[in-house]
Amino acid sequence: MERNQGERAWVLHSHPFGDGSLVLELFTEHHGRLGVLARGKRRRGRLEAGRPYWVRWAGQGELPVLQSAEELPGRLVQHPVPALLLFYLNELLLRLTGRADPQDELFVEYSQILEALAARPEDFWLLRRFERRLLVTLGWAADVIHCAQCGALLKEANAYARAGEGVFCARHAPALAQPVSAAALTWLGGDLQLPPERSAWGELRSYLAMELDQLLGGRTLESRRLLAAYLRRRRSSRGGAESR
Ligand SMILES: [Zn+2]
Repeated sequence: MERNQGERAWVLHSHPFGDGSLVLELFTEHHGRLGVLARGKRRRGRLEAGRPYWVRWAGQGELPVLQSAEELPGRLVQHPVPALLLFYLNELLLRLTGRADPQDELFVEYSQILEALAARPEDFWLLRRFERRLLVTLGWAADVIHCAQCGALLKEANAYARAGEGVFCARHAPALAQPVSAAALTWLGGDLQLPPERSAWGELRSYLAMELDQLLGGRTLESRRLLAAYLRRRRSSRGGAESR
């Protein structure tokens, strides 16, 4: 039986299995996404999403058995927006990464964004950074520097993007392509360390959602639906307070 010394991991999802056991979908530091069986008597603590653990497991194949999970010091995600955002990030990883496909860089990225969102939950641009980094890491990010058709530099005016096909200059924009401003392209092609210009937030959200939707094969993310409903409710309650 294969045993390991353990590594850092986050819980992405869990569901009951058999008599008091759980199947946990973990995102591990060096083994990527991993499904493990947490037997009833071996369950330690709460094993929740949004908390970092040091986990050890044994066995290989489809469903190794969790040996232990110790919570590591870290911020707790308690605010309702981070909880929804956490659900969103986890859903992206569950849907777009495969089991047992090591994603060390993405693990670092994921750990960083959880910490940042726990501290600054209103920094929605961090989600755009995660989405872009996810696309880059998985090899699906569009070239945002050159036109996908003629190779011309996309620097000056608006460019046009179509999901799964790339970004195009005005001359080669395909039908139904979505305009993307120079500010958005510059940010997407940069190191993503600083927030994009505020004016580009909306189009970055819709551009990245378009690229991700293409990969998700048209299946809606439950978390995106919930987040949109939450934001609508919050806006309408704020609007109500202002009109009083
Ligand atoms: Zn072109």
